[in-house]
Amino acid sequence: MTTVILKSGKDQPLLRFHPWVFSGAIKKIKGEVKEGDVVAVYDNKETFLGLGHYQIGSITVRIISFTEVEINYEFWKNKIQKAYDLRKQMGYIDAENNNVFRLVHAEGDNLPGLIIDFYNGTAVMQFHSVGMFLAKDLLVQALKETLDNKLEAIYDKSEKTLPFKADIQPKNGYLFGEKSNGIVTEYGHKFKINWEEGQKTGFFVDQRENRKLLANYSKDKSVLNVFGYTGGFSVYAMAGGAKEIHSVDSSEKAIKLTDENIALNFDDTSRHKSFAVDAFEFLKDIDNKYDVIVLDPPAFAKHRNVLHKALQGYKRINTRAFEQIKPGGILFTFSCSQVVSKENFRNIVFTAAAISGRKVRILHQLTQPTDHAINIYHPESEYLKGLVLHVE
Ligand code: SAH
Repeated sequence: MTTVILKSGKDQPLLRFHPWVFSGAIKKIKGEVKEGDVVAVYDNKETFLGLGHYQIGSITVRIISFTEVEINYEFWKNKIQKAYDLRKQMGYIDAENNNVFRLVHAEGDNLPGLIIDFYNGTAVMQFHSVGMFLAKDLLVQALKETLDNKLEAIYDKSEKTLPFKADIQPKNGYLFGEKSNGIVTEYGHKFKINWEEGQKTGFFVDQRENRKLLANYSKDKSVLNVFGYTGGFSVYAMAGGAKEIHSVDSSEKAIKLTDENIALNFDDTSRHKSFAVDAFEFLKDIDNKYDVIVLDPPAFAKHRNVLHKALQGYKRINTRAFEQIKPGGILFTFSCSQVVSKENFRNIVFTAAAISGRKVRILHQLTQPTDHAINIYHPESEYLKGLVLHVE
């Protein structure tokens, strides 16, 4: 097996189970290596540190095992089984009012480069590393064996998530079973998920608990859901008894999905209205119409070098919300950008509050749900940050 030798002192993160080897930490590579190969990583005194997938780029190796084991079917089966057992322990398997959850959360499940979301019988797999993509057949077999009769289909959604220069030809498509009607249940609410054409794996499973919380603040309120996508927050606001709900998303497709999901859950949809417009434009002039505002923008910053620009984006939308929300209003504000830390986010929301001159209190500090478990040694897995604020 090809070996990767680290520079002196660069073994520390791996000794603490951080699963990434950056290109700058590597002293030399002994042997031939292709993208996706399993390589063994050693410190500069040739002590074994871990086995991982090699890939060209800043993250050169993603560790899949910190012990010297054979990477075979048993290895992958064991990992998938562990992820499943944990979901069972969390109460997601056969839950009465929920059949959508994340089954594998990459580094959070010690499976860097792999995401699997479960949608009422269909597992949507998304590969983010070449090595994981090459392990696909074994992973599919492991999924089938683990989920058994709970599994009706597997869809691979990796066409856009793998490095385009790698010598692989990812194609979206069914690896097992076939298309279903795509209707799932989340806390008793129905959602139509289009994993074939939708964003990410089709649904933002990670906002489940936060959407549920919104229902508690919605009774008789006027609610604005900005960056609504499938209308998740809007459905919960409707269920919570809001008197008026407005959903905003720049994508026409997203707005269509929102309208469908509202209609799927409520016979009378007259309390809901949707707008396919740009959020920055919409927020310019909302006056003091809304008691509750939800801001759940896409990851404005995907890379560290655009962090500053992203923070400006968060500042702009939050300032607009603070300036115009009704006195006594509630703002749900989020960032799902991995490179924006909890502190960065809180500081930027603080700045926006200060610019508006309103008195603001933090009621809830939100994060991702348990099926998006955070690997304590990999702080980057904590990507979703949210604040629920009371604005005087
Ligand atoms: N809140 C959603 C997830 C939001 S994802 C949920 O609970 O499922 C972010 C959404 O923002 C996407 O649907 C995207 O189409 C939309 N979006 C991106 N840029 C936008 C802009 N400038 N104005 C309005 N919507 C935008």
